[in-house]
Amino acid sequence: MKKRLLMVSNRLPVKIAADGTATRTAGGLASALEGAELENEQIWVGWPGGAEEEFDDPEAISKQLNEQNTWPVFLSQAELDGFYEGYANSTLWPILHYMVERAKFSQEWWDSYKAVNQKFADVILSIAQDGDMIWIHDYHLFLLPELLRGTNMNLRVGFFLHTPFCSSEVFRVLPHRAELLRGVLGADIIGFHTSSYLRHFRSTLLRVLGKESEMDSIWYGGREVRLLAAPIGHNHLGFQKCMEREDFGEIVAEHREELNGKRLVLSVERLDYTKGVPQKLTAIHRFLKDNPEWCDEVIFVLISVPSRQGVEEYDQLTEEVQRAVGAINGEFGSVGHSPVQFLHRGFPPADLAALYALSELCLVTPLRDGMNLVAKEFLDCQREEIAGRPGVLILSELAGAAEELSNAIQVNPHNTEEVADAIARALEMPDEERKFRIEAMQRRLRLRHSGPWAQSFVEDLEKVPAREQRVA
Ligand code: UDP
Repeated sequence: MKKRLLMVSNRLPVKIAADGTATRTAGGLASALEGAELENEQIWVGWPGGAEEEFDDPEAISKQLNEQNTWPVFLSQAELDGFYEGYANSTLWPILHYMVERAKFSQEWWDSYKAVNQKFADVILSIAQDGDMIWIHDYHLFLLPELLRGTNMNLRVGFFLHTPFCSSEVFRVLPHRAELLRGVLGADIIGFHTSSYLRHFRSTLLRVLGKESEMDSIWYGGREVRLLAAPIGHNHLGFQKCMEREDFGEIVAEHREELNGKRLVLSVERLDYTKGVPQKLTAIHRFLKDNPEWCDEVIFVLISVPSRQGVEEYDQLTEEVQRAVGAINGEFGSVGHSPVQFLHRGFPPADLAALYALSELCLVTPLRDGMNLVAKEFLDCQREEIAGRPGVLILSELAGAAEELSNAIQVNPHNTEEVADAIARALEMPDEERKFRIEAMQRRLRLRHSGPWAQSFVEDLEKVPAREQRVA
């Protein structure tokens, strides 16, 4: 019999309605598993969204969800403040993305982070069975692997980090750096998106814990922990399905009409400070100033999905971006045309696919990004027959995706002139060069999509020796 797979992430891949009914959401990890040919029974463990106090009857909701192999970890408002908004998003997130000056530290948040990791462990241990595989995702749950080792059960535990792992010089800024490392070392396999993140992790183990490691493993606590770099792919099958929809032609036609004959330069991102949206707008301003002949020809569409609304820093960012867009349109627009369109909302996948297909250029310029799936989705959805010519990707060298996408025009997102020049160069690039660049990347991406990525990690977990055979 195939081993059971417990997928553990901060957020469950379901939306819970007021009456407790759950519907699977399209994005994220659930869709990553779509194309993986797994025969394992899958169980999901995670936070169902909202504060525990908002649900009338959490116990009844739990029971309903359990029938769908989903185990909610309810979090109180105080836990959401300390664990989620606090330690995970205001301490770890900025540090892992090299934004030390944005990181805030609080003993209370750390205590809450520890308590919530324990809460996840309690739920998992209440349902785990001998032989289960447990795949833990992301920086919210660094301590969970070690907490699961407390049991005598024969569990195989994998951990995957979806953010960058920063240099040891930055990680050591964290007051509880050693506890975090010891926590994650409770896993049997630890995965990262790039070999650089893995390298930083290994040097951090050495600097902080004094532990030597091999390229792909470390002996810790008398067991071998495997270390690997495995870049996640995008949901190729999901986008393919969208593009095969009967009404896809109509969706494309609607967006084409909106473009009014202009050449589309597309950006898609959550409005987060790591995505470098103000810096991108500075580069767009520069490009329009240096190349006035393009002003009336191109349209920059910025799809900025609202993120963490209500958090002061994020609200300020939204205002800053809106001001910058207004200033560019004021300076370079005309009665009939605003060169930058800021769309502050999310779009359904079929619309995204249509916009990716229609764009001539995609501008992906995060200041730091664990991977960046938008870059891969754009390349995959590009269709010469829709856009009229092959598209070009401008990609920040500080995104994880840059390690794989060497045929993109890579830029330093802090270098305004370089980004502005790259836009001009991309727009003027001959079709032959565009075709050569994009085809090489497309071939690779369509093979290495999210399905094989997930499948390969699960296969690795399946191969972890049974508990009694692990000890040296
Ligand atoms: N996305 C979406 N709707 C939108 C815009 C984006 O579902 O309106 C999706 C997009 O398709 C991609 C994800 O959001 O899969 C963003 O992932 P990425 O790795 O680029 O950045 P993250 O937000 O995870 O930092």
